[in-house]
Amino acid sequence: MTYVIAEPCIGTKDTACVDACPVDCIHPKKDSPAHAEEEMLYIDPVECIDCGACVPVCPVSAIFALDDLPEKWASFTERNAKLLGFHGTEGVGSDRPAHLSLA
Ligand code: SF4
Ligand code: SF4
Repeated sequence: MTYVIAEPCIGTKDTACVDACPVDCIHPKKDSPAHAEEEMLYIDPVECIDCGACVPVCPVSAIFALDDLPEKWASFTERNAKLLGFHGTEGVGSDRPAHLSLA
């Protein structure tokens, strides 16, 4: 399982969850070039340890455990997972830890 960020993050994107995450798996962070380009943040489903620490700090309740994700936002599961596909390129995930590089 993993946690997923859904639609309410769009337009908020305040990065409160980034600071709460113990494994640094929410991207793109403020210091990443991709941060300005993306309308929301995403959780790397491989790195997420399902601790739930990000959930209570989100001001717009955008973060859900996969099992609790409302059906209307089901597409956000794939959208978060696409983080992996962007890794190594100019875009989301380019600030992931080097040991996870797919390049
Ligand atoms: S559930 Fe825990 S590990 Fe996963 S994104 Fe949230 S804070 Fe990070
Ligand atoms: S705390 Fe919520 S609104 Fe803020 S960046 Fe994280 S998911 Fe988006």
